[in-house]
This record gives sequence, structure tokens and C-alpha cells, in this order.
Amino acid sequence: MIPAYELLLEKSRERADFIVRQLKYLTKFDIKNFDHIVADFHDEAFEEINCLDCGNCCRMQAPQWNESDIRRITKLVGLDKDKFVRESLVRDPEEGWRGACLPCPFLQADNACSVYEDRPKDCAIYPYTAERRIKKGLGRLAHNTQICPAAYLVAEKIIERFAKGLTK
Ligand code: SF4
Ligand code: SF4
Repeated sequence: MIPAYELLLEKSRERADFIVRQLKYLTKFDIKNFDHIVADFHDEAFEEINCLDCGNCCRMQAPQWNESDIRRITKLVGLDKDKFVRESLVRDPEEGWRGACLPCPFLQADNACSVYEDRPKDCAIYPYTAERRIKKGLGRLAHNTQICPAAYLVAEKIIERFAKGLTK
């Protein structure tokens, strides 16, 4: 990860309690067009952040794999599906299959993903800031600010825009 992104994560760690508090506070309100506004923040953040200069999620956060991800990617790379599941995934009782090892074995030295076009859906939507019903995901966003510099930028934009001046 380039030093500028490390600095962002350092700031995020310093402000972790504040970020958690503010995002939790926002869950008490129904903000008009919140999903769309946050999706715009997501686009702005990724104009600043290049995942190929980072790769941190692929090092620190094992993605969820659904059945279709497993079928598609094992076929693509010519692996036996059952062997892959046995050796490379773990079953979470609540969330289903997750990668068993970090960094992800598909991550390459240049931070590119070797199965990028076919990567698991969970990887494609990470850090989930362009998703619908974002209000329900604010706790998860707070967590991801510790991993993803783009998530941190989105969280700061949300806090700057909304957390001040709201009263219950
Ligand atoms: S499959 Fe690709 S995008 Fe997903 S964690 Fe692995 S390297 Fe990253
Ligand atoms: S999604 Fe976030 S953590 Fe993952 S590579 Fe991109 S900037 Fe880094």
C-alpha cells in the first residue's frame, strides 16, 4: 500500500471511536436520498483512491464466496470444486463460505486480482458503499474504515455532511 493510503488508515485508527459514534448516531435518522448521496461519495472516493495502489482488503478481509462464485472461479482456473471448498474456504454458520487464508491466494504481487473479471460478488461490491440500504450498513462501514482508505474517505464525507446539526 502506498504511504498516502497508510496515512489515511492511520488517521482512521486515531478517529475510530469518533467515527463509530457518529455513524451509529446517524442510524437514528431517515435521511432523504441517503443511498444516492453515499453512492456519490463512493464515486468521489474512488476517483482519489486506486485499488492497485492498495490491495489491503485482499490482504486483511477474507471475502464471502457464494455457490455461483465457487462454480465460476474453480471452472475458470481449472480447480476441482470440492477440493477448493475443502482446502480454501471455511464455513461461517451465519455468513456462508469465506476465504480460509489471507492474503487471498488470487492476489498478485502488483495488487491485481488474478480472477478480477470473475471475482466473488463480495469482492466486487466491497467496501459496500454503493449499495442500497446503506443506513443498515453504517456499522460495517465504520469497521471497514480500518481496512479500506476509500471507506474511510466515504465515512468522513458522511460525517461532515450529516452528523453535525442533526437532532433526534
Ligand atoms: S478474489 Fe481477487 S478481489 Fe477477491 S480477495 Fe481475492 S484477490 Fe482480492
Ligand atoms: S477496496 Fe479499499 S481496501 Fe480494497 S483495494 Fe480498494 S481501496 Fe484498498
